[in-house]
Amino acid sequence: MKSLSNLYDTGILLSKNSLKYAYSLIPLKWRLGKKFFRELEFLEKSQWWSVQELEQYQNDQLRKLVEHAYNNVPYYNRLFRDNRLSYSDIRTIHDLPKIPLLHKETVKNNLSLFKATNFKPNQMVKLNTSGTTGEPLIFYYNRRMRMLGFNGTFLWRHYGWGGHKVGERRATLSCWTIKGNRNFIYNPVNRLLVLSAYTLKHENAEKYADKMAKYQIEYLDGYPSSIELLTSFLKEKGLKKPPVQLRAIFCWAEYLYDWQRKNIETFWGCKCFDRYGLNERVIWGLECEKHEGLHLISEFGITEFMNDDSDKQFKRIIATSLTNYAMPFIRYETGDVGRLLENKCSCGRNFPLFELGGGRKRNFAIDKDGSYIPIANIDIPNVSDHVSQFQFMQNKKGSLTLSIIKKSTFQDNDL
Ligand SMILES: [Zn+2]
Repeated sequence: MKSLSNLYDTGILLSKNSLKYAYSLIPLKWRLGKKFFRELEFLEKSQWWSVQELEQYQNDQLRKLVEHAYNNVPYYNRLFRDNRLSYSDIRTIHDLPKIPLLHKETVKNNLSLFKATNFKPNQMVKLNTSGTTGEPLIFYYNRRMRMLGFNGTFLWRHYGWGGHKVGERRATLSCWTIKGNRNFIYNPVNRLLVLSAYTLKHENAEKYADKMAKYQIEYLDGYPSSIELLTSFLKEKGLKKPPVQLRAIFCWAEYLYDWQRKNIETFWGCKCFDRYGLNERVIWGLECEKHEGLHLISEFGITEFMNDDSDKQFKRIIATSLTNYAMPFIRYETGDVGRLLENKCSCGRNFPLFELGGGRKRNFAIDKDGSYIPIANIDIPNVSDHVSQFQFMQNKKGSLTLSIIKKSTFQDNDL
């Protein structure tokens, strides 16, 4: 174990975010393109499919995925042969249990075997999970699906459930680091006001509110803990009503607690729309306008709830992504728990409802001046190839200790 003090202060963790911002300057329509709108149109229709139609779609997609994995992904080819399976043994979602579960450790230790051999390097992007679990995982994602899949059409259909359409003004309060350590930046092209969760403090909370008012923000998204923090700062400062009339607030990256939801909704006078996903892009759990639970998004993936112990209220969430052909995740052990709800949502969509079993707790670090800095989503860029686990600890304000377990590939410049 090696300790690093004040790594946070060095700023090296934050450099990646400025690239994200540069990317966001490309006009939205260019970035989205015709395919995006065609796919969104498809999803607008498929959300009203019957249970049978959804299952049929999942079966078709699963057969395609498994055949592809068998033929092009060395790990799956070997796994199937070791288990005397052929891709044709997997005809429907009910055949899935024939395939052994996939554990994060297996992906970590066999990364090169998971890459589809029929993908060129420029057809995939390298991504990694962030620090929520302290065990970073590198994986590859189908580049084309980046806008069309997880963060594209599925996300925009969810914004639509809260009334938010492409081109309308939104603010995001999340871990963006803005050049010059500013608190905010407005992108007129995307009509997106980026508010930094890193620099939110009691004394500057009104500035955040002023910016939202200035840019007439209609929708807000971000980490529930940061949104709740902004809300309580504004209330402590005596604001009786919100600076803008929001239409919806989308919460992501963390478990949304009932008390947070209540505080946020009461102050802003609109509803929260919870969003559960994993960086591995294997599952979407999205709350609709009826707020009766999280919908499991059936066109995106197949989700199983497994119990080892029937007494347990919550079961392990096992997820199969239907969209990532660059590196298929089939029956992936997510590490999260949840349970299916029996009732059908009154919205009329046939996506099953479920609820999460806690976890994904928010972690804050406290800065020298007492302000809160969200740390659960800090990426450790570049070094995750060489670090197998890490953990943040804080003993005094303004300083963090990062403990890491090195891989054998770890070098001095990673430090
Ligand atoms: Zn619903």
